[in-house]
Amino acid sequence: MVERNKPYDTFGWGVVFSDATMDNMRRCDPVTAGEIQAAFNHWDDIELHFKGEVIRSGGHGFVGIGRKKLLNILQARCEELGVKLVFEADVTSDTEFPDADLVVACDGINSRIREKYADVFKPDVVVRPNRYIWLGTHKLFEKTEHGWFQAHIYKFDENTTTFIVECPEEVWQAHRLDQADQEASIAFCEKLFAANLQGAKLMTNSRHLRGSAWLNFQHSGTCSTGAARWC
Ligand SMILES: Cc1cc2nc3c(=O)[nH]c(=O)nc-3n(C[C@H](O)[C@H](O)[C@H](O)COP(=O)(O)OP(=O)(O)OC[C@H]3O[C@@H](n4cnc5c(N)ncnc54)[C@H](O)[C@@H]3O)c2cc1C
Repeated sequence: MVERNKPYDTFGWGVVFSDATMDNMRRCDPVTAGEIQAAFNHWDDIELHFKGEVIRSGGHGFVGIGRKKLLNILQARCEELGVKLVFEADVTSDTEFPDADLVVACDGINSRIREKYADVFKPDVVVRPNRYIWLGTHKLFEKTEHGWFQAHIYKFDENTTTFIVECPEEVWQAHRLDQADQEASIAFCEKLFAANLQGAKLMTNSRHLRGSAWLNFQHSGTCSTGAARWC
C-alpha cells in the first residue's frame, strides 16, 4: 500500500457508517468490523430542525467515529496481515510498479489514474453547486435554527462533533465568503450558529488546506453525510 500522506494523517472530523455499511464490512473483514463497532458511537434517530420545528425520525442505524481512530484501526489491521505500508510517497503513475501483477488504484475523487485512463473508465464526476466547509466543535448539540445555511452535525466521540456548514453558491458569494480566509470563515459560521453553539468554538483542520476550505461536493455514485440537520 502506497500513500502520499504520513501514517495516521487525515483531515476531517468524524465519519459515520450506516448499519448496512457495517454489515458489508462484517462480511468482508469481521475482525476490522468488530474493532470499528466497539470504537464507534451508535445512534438510530435523525432530527431535522427547521424554523423552530423539530422532526425526529427513527430507523436510521448509524455509527460515528473519528477519522484518525478509523485510520488507526485500518492501518494496524494491514500491519497484522503483513501488508507493507509505504507512506509519504506520491505516486505519479501506475507504471511505477513494473513488478506488480495487479495495481489497485484507490486514489480518491481526484484520482490521477482514473483521469489518465479516462477513455477506459469513463468517469462520471459531477461537481455539485453548493459550497460546504468542514468544521468540528466540542459542543454537543441539542437545538438550533437558521436561514439558508444548513449544518450537518454528528457526534463521533465522547466530546467532539463534526460540523459541516453548507449553502448555495449564490448565498456564499453574497456573503463574500469567496474572499474569506479560514479565520474569517470560522468567525462567520460561529456568528451564524451562535444561538446553537452557545459560546462554543468551531475548529478547523488547519493542517490541511482542503480540510477546512469552502469546497464543493463531487458526485460519482453514492455519498452519505449527516446525522442531524439544522436549517
Ligand atoms: C465533508 C465530507 C464528509 C464525509 N462524510 C462521510 C461519512 O460520514 N461517511 C462516509 O461513509 N463517507 C463520508 N464521506 C465520503 C468519504 O470520505 C469518501 O467516500 C471516501 O473517503 C472515499 O474513499 P476513497 O478510498 O475512494 O478515497 P480517499 O478516502 O480520498 O482515499 C484516497 C487516498 O489516496 C491517497 N492518494 C491520492 N492520490 C495519491 C497519489 N498520487 N499518491 C499517493 N497517494 C495518493 C490520498 O492521500 C488518500 O489517502 C464524506 C466526504 C466528505 C467530503
